[in-house]
Amino acid sequence: MPDLPDLIPLEIAQAHVLDGVTALPAETVGLADASGLVIAEPVRSLLTVPSWANSAMDGFAVRGSDIATASPTSPAVLRVLGEVAAGRPPEMGVEAGTALRIMTGAMLPEGADTVVPVEDTDAPAGASEIPATVAILAPVKVGDHIRLPGSDVTADAPLLGAGRACDAAAIELLAATGHGSVAVHRRPRVAVISTGDELVPPGRPLGPGQIHDSNSFTLAAQAAEAGAEVRRLGVARDTLEALLALLREAAAWADVIVLSGGVSVGAHDHVKAAFGTLGDLALWRVAIKPGRPFAFGRATVDGRDVRLFGLPGNPVSVFVTFELFVRPVLRRLAGHPRAFGRSTRVVRLAEPMRGSSGRQHITRVVLVPDPERPDGLLARSSGGQDSYMLASLAAANAMIFIPPDANLPAGAEVIAWELRDRED
Ligand code: AMP
Ligand code: MG
Repeated sequence: MPDLPDLIPLEIAQAHVLDGVTALPAETVGLADASGLVIAEPVRSLLTVPSWANSAMDGFAVRGSDIATASPTSPAVLRVLGEVAAGRPPEMGVEAGTALRIMTGAMLPEGADTVVPVEDTDAPAGASEIPATVAILAPVKVGDHIRLPGSDVTADAPLLGAGRACDAAAIELLAATGHGSVAVHRRPRVAVISTGDELVPPGRPLGPGQIHDSNSFTLAAQAAEAGAEVRRLGVARDTLEALLALLREAAAWADVIVLSGGVSVGAHDHVKAAFGTLGDLALWRVAIKPGRPFAFGRATVDGRDVRLFGLPGNPVSVFVTFELFVRPVLRRLAGHPRAFGRSTRVVRLAEPMRGSSGRQHITRVVLVPDPERPDGLLARSSGGQDSYMLASLAAANAMIFIPPDANLPAGAEVIAWELRDRED
């Protein structure tokens, strides 16, 4: 690790953490397992879609020339020869003066070039009986309501590029174009460890001096939301041996290990020593509030790269440092082209805000529509900003970056990262 100043700027720390991080190897997964994974190689269509002409409506397949002048007062009356339903090839064609009842998605019969929606006929919609004749009450342009072969996708057309996340629309397209599986980057594996003799699992009674282990649940949820496969390995007691035992268990499986607590200079803080034993340690004091103490390390375990994050113990510091450092690494491992995936916006302060001395103050806020600017947003503090205060974190829908030593008036512009959907 290069020599760094005592308190290093956020962007420099982020660049170090991301240095050398590349997408995990590709593997082929079935579409049912592809959700959220990132496509590793460009995908082309295996099919022409639609593969054959079919009806876009429930109605009647006709010859357009038979109905060119149809109207309610002088309908074109056609003999109905039968029906074409979806999934079965037509048993007959359409000839002059005849029609076939046809369902949406059914193959267009031979001889037909137009579909008349059932609403433009005298046939009752949804009737089970096939009528002997049908009166067409409105002219339909030749070729209307027909989906032509290849009008959506042609065989071998490029569909999705590498780096595209498999969202619902991508999976739909893959499935419809003949793909049963897709090559994606492997999901990053994240092991989460809490440290501290004071920690008790949530839901259990607390003894004197004890608190609930909230961090490992926060981190597991954040990692899962970032697309990782997560294992919570529990709480390491405040001894180097206990910490090393859990770290070694984690390193046998994980790409990324995230610990919380035990990273500062307290007498019982063993994370730095443990990282140093397992691999290379870089310890930084990052110029942010909350989240100043921060340990980062790298280890090679059975030829695999393992990244080690020692986050501060305070729950809000955990949340914020995960956002700023761990999430971008997970996204890059997962194959996302943009490591920093949060929607970033310039917003205005609803109230004056002070920065902190020498550090960016990452402030929990609620973004609401700005009454003075169309499409603009105002940031309002979501509550107490100390790093142990969780109520304001759950209330926030964004975090904003107040520059070091700033003293900003209401209306000043700042950068916001949106953390979840707004409720307005
Ligand atoms: P430490 O860095 O270990 O001294 O922890 C700093 C603060 O974070 C202390 O108040 C701890 O009790 C608290 N803390 C540490 N780990 C957790 C955890 N897993 N869940 C909730 N709070 C924690
Ligand atoms: Mg501790």
